[in-house]
Amino acid sequence: MKIVHAASELYPYMKTGGLADAVGALTATFVNMGHEVSVFLPGYRDALAHPLAAGAERRFRLKIEMGDQFLSGDVLTFSPRKNLTVFLVCRDEYYDRRYPYGNGERDYEDNSDRFIFFCKAVVETMRLADLGADIVHTHDWQTALLPLLLREAERRFGVTLAMKTVFTIHNIAFQGLFSAVCFARTNLPDELFSMDGLEYYGQVNFLKAGILFADRVTTVSPRYAMEIQTPEFGCGLEGVVQTRIDDLSGLINGVDTDVWNPSTDKLIPARYSARDLAGKNTCRRELLRQCGLDPTFAGPVYGMICRLTEQKGVDLVLANTDFFTKRDTRFVILGSGDRRMEAELGKAAAAAPARISVCARHDESMSHLIEAGSDFFLMPSLFEPCGLNQMYSQVYGTVPVVSRVGGLVDTVRDSDEDPEAGTGIMCEPDAVSLRDALERALALFGDKPRLAAVQQRCMARDFSWKTAAAAYDALYRDAL
Ligand code: ADP
Repeated sequence: MKIVHAASELYPYMKTGGLADAVGALTATFVNMGHEVSVFLPGYRDALAHPLAAGAERRFRLKIEMGDQFLSGDVLTFSPRKNLTVFLVCRDEYYDRRYPYGNGERDYEDNSDRFIFFCKAVVETMRLADLGADIVHTHDWQTALLPLLLREAERRFGVTLAMKTVFTIHNIAFQGLFSAVCFARTNLPDELFSMDGLEYYGQVNFLKAGILFADRVTTVSPRYAMEIQTPEFGCGLEGVVQTRIDDLSGLINGVDTDVWNPSTDKLIPARYSARDLAGKNTCRRELLRQCGLDPTFAGPVYGMICRLTEQKGVDLVLANTDFFTKRDTRFVILGSGDRRMEAELGKAAAAAPARISVCARHDESMSHLIEAGSDFFLMPSLFEPCGLNQMYSQVYGTVPVVSRVGGLVDTVRDSDEDPEAGTGIMCEPDAVSLRDALERALALFGDKPRLAAVQQRCMARDFSWKTAAAAYDALYRDAL
């Protein structure tokens, strides 16, 4: 198949979160499967400076209609490996910036223009390059207009640019909601600024366009696919999602086992496998040492890694910090973001420095060490489209303690409810239920044969991208 992806992030050229990993791994796996893959990414400063992009050549000079203006842009291409072409859509005014979406304080004011331009540039390049795509796959609000713009261009030029389009929602909480004036920049027919089109309570909603106009809609777990049809999780778009249930599916992301694998991981002090867990103990000691805790401590270590946001359930943990002081346990958390949460975590650590350790930074090595060196991994998210860390922790034999939402439900099984197949401990997304889960983890730690059995089941699970990509492959074929 000829497959075209368009996204605002692509590992290793631009990453702020799971989207980059997912698009990077999905495209690489599709190339391994023998498909011909093209990926479009904005020509951000970092992407252009990446060593793999050093040989990029200018292939197209574009004139893109934006309302009553024509704006120019360049398309550079390079091929990091056979059957994979990366297209960088360049316009310095839009993409030659330090960050992809905002300056850290707030989003860029011209984000609607930046991503309308990007989507239009992808369509125009597909036409000029005669890419003849079987599938065009777009991701999240930044590229959600593409399926619609593509069909409009086909009508206008009397050509076929793609057989089918697929749109993936990685997080429905981010919708690309802009003032109505930006609609004119799309040059779409006026009737599309309506309830059946892009209009959303007087504004323009990019994500809504992706949900309505792609041939297939996917999201990143079966459970989240159900949840986004409800007011509790749909963030106002549940009604729109419901109109597409016949074409909606939930496909779990995979784990990049070249990066997350305890038997080959160079970022941890000792390697280990399900057959020989001795190295995990070395990692545990090193984790405690690096966190300023007693390395000889024999009780359970609870670890956590996340963006400090409401979504990740940080407040539920904050409400339970006394658990770690009343019980003989240790807690280490790596994360940055919300200032209030950072301060409250700091306060908890200052009050119990021998038990709680906070690393308020982004630290790739420490994230691997926490996955390897903890006994339990906390992820009490309020919502979680897919989640990666609960999968990483199982691969590392670290029992996940998760809330019963989204992708966490699809990737973890409670070991009390299912003693034969359980791989973790599950709770409701509230502080009382989390407390109970922390206690159950403590009890599991005290029952060594049962703990060992749960760990073995965790490490036997297959979360590889091969499985995930096979599901997308089947979806593409079905759509075609
Ligand atoms: P989300 O994409 O919602 O942030 P995921 O669990 O899908 O959550 O993926 C988050 C990724 O970012 C994981 O690989 C996680 O280890 C990593 N991560 C989050 N915070 C940090 C941090 N402070 N330092 C290092 N890695 C982090």
